[in-house]
Amino acid sequence: MPDDSSSPAKDRHGAIATRLRQAGQRVTLPRIMILDAFTPGAHLTAEEVFGRVARRAPEISRSTVYRTLETFRQNGIVSETDLGHGVRHFELLETRRHHHLVCHRCGGQAELDDVLVAPLRDAVARHHGFAADIEHLAIFGTCATCQAAGDQGGRRPVTTGRGDEPPRARTT
Ligand SMILES: [Zn+2]
Ligand SMILES: [Zn+2]
Repeated sequence: MPDDSSSPAKDRHGAIATRLRQAGQRVTLPRIMILDAFTPGAHLTAEEVFGRVARRAPEISRSTVYRTLETFRQNGIVSETDLGHGVRHFELLETRRHHHLVCHRCGGQAELDDVLVAPLRDAVARHHGFAADIEHLAIFGTCATCQAAGDQGGRRPVTTGRGDEPPRARTT
């Protein structure tokens, strides 16, 4: 089924209901409203989900939202990732897997394509016979900008001698 995010709410709700049924989930209004809160690519805290739901369906309680998010997480409909500062963000698990690079100095984020992570998943399976749930990673570190700023007097990255430094990926 084509995913047309520009279709009106009724079509979106229909698509969400289909998705819930495919995942073996009961279709209820709170469930539809909660999934509908996730605009494409949105990473939301439970409180943000509640805020979006409450604007359109004030009868849905905070505890329903929290409980339903937990059910969705257990059933692989949403993923939950710590994007820093101990705050858990929920995201709709789409077919397109992706991950995040999070800079712990400036808080900047970049998306990491799953093609770079897939070999890890395969290696874990090969070496350990273990099916790793690497669905949505947040990798913490220092972004290129902050590393460059750090070179001018701040904390230096752990490298010794200029010649040993690997070439850095340039961002455009
Ligand atoms: Zn994400
Ligand atoms: Zn940074």
